[in-house]
Amino acid sequence: MIKHRRNTEKNLLTDRILAEIKRQKLEKTPYCVQCGSRNNLQLGHVFSRVCKSIIFEWDNLHIQCESCNNYHEVNPEPFNNWAKRNIGIEKFNYLEAKSKQIKKWTVPELKEKLKRLRCVDERNKRNVETIQSRYARQKG
Ligand SMILES: [Zn+2]
Repeated sequence: MIKHRRNTEKNLLTDRILAEIKRQKLEKTPYCVQCGSRNNLQLGHVFSRVCKSIIFEWDNLHIQCESCNNYHEVNPEPFNNWAKRNIGIEKFNYLEAKSKQIKKWTVPELKEKLKRLRCVDERNKRNVETIQSRYARQKG
């Protein structure tokens, strides 16, 4: 059997969720959180995406450039230290503990996750628009 990643519904949904998270993260930090580069930006995982339990955790995911992301696999210390400083030691420890749990996502769970991500994003956008239009009215 050839062992490569198949285009199963689960894998496709996983990719779509991660793409959606990346898009939302890029709106906040359109640069590598570690070195500030704006080239070859990727969605970096503090704890490896191999651990399915934390694959979509917001605090586990940060924008990194390709070289910082690759270096994290060789030496996880700099990005781990960055994460400890930026998400806080409690969340870091929580992610580390959770990364050791076994999690198997089901297709309905993944669909729900994607739907919720989009809903929250829509809601946030509407709030921003409301604030902006209120501000515009006050000014005008
Ligand atoms: Zn970088």
